[in-house]
Amino acid sequence: MMTAFLRFSVGALAAVLVSCAAPGGGGGAGPKADASSPGRSEYGNRPGPRGFRTVILDAGHGGQDSGAVSPWTRQKEKDAALDTVMRLRRELGGGFQVVLMRDGDYFVDLDDRVRRANTWPNAILVSVHYNSGGGGSRGTETFYWRTDSYSLARRIQRSLSAVVPSERGNRGLVRRRIRLTRNPEIPCVLVECGYLSNSGESRLIADSGHRQKLAHAIAGAIRAQAAEGDAGMGPLPPPIFAPMSRPTDPRE
Ligand SMILES: [Zn+2]
Repeated sequence: MMTAFLRFSVGALAAVLVSCAAPGGGGGAGPKADASSPGRSEYGNRPGPRGFRTVILDAGHGGQDSGAVSPWTRQKEKDAALDTVMRLRRELGGGFQVVLMRDGDYFVDLDDRVRRANTWPNAILVSVHYNSGGGGSRGTETFYWRTDSYSLARRIQRSLSAVVPSERGNRGLVRRRIRLTRNPEIPCVLVECGYLSNSGESRLIADSGHRQKLAHAIAGAIRAQAAEGDAGMGPLPPPIFAPMSRPTDPRE
């Protein structure tokens, strides 16, 4: 009696599971919900990239948008970012196809940057910035939002921490939804390479040798990500299904 009941239960359960999996999961008509479909992957809910051949380097700001300006050295963020990107391109050598979002002092709208990034499949996007903030803020930080961008962000931040050993103020890895960490269809991170507002750090940033070290560190992290993917990075953070970031969002 008991055995017959159990058999019936397992059979009923299997029927329920089949009926639950059927809508959308069978590959026929209807929206697909698997991680590889465009609807999901646009949120970056998938493993981190491995074996990618194209690296899109985005120098922050440009043209009329100077970004931060150091009160100590008068250096502009847009110039430091472009210089660092050029060094990063050389550091990556012939190992990747490198695409520059801008290669001179001109303005590119953030949404245009996203659109251009989306024209490159099997690529990653690394946006390079320098920071500004109050008080004694200093150190590097790396922003990511999507699950597929976590390992890359973590590798870059770890690599940068070796160049900028910041006992105080190093903000590390930060999960933040901004246009260049949420909206592209490819894995994407934004790196803040140090504080132009900090007197000591801004003098470091003004030194080309220091910017070379930053570029070298980021390049090493990109190469490691391409070779190893998520290996050694521990559990990936769960996806957060938030809408596209818009210009009206706070902390853009
Ligand atoms: Zn910036």
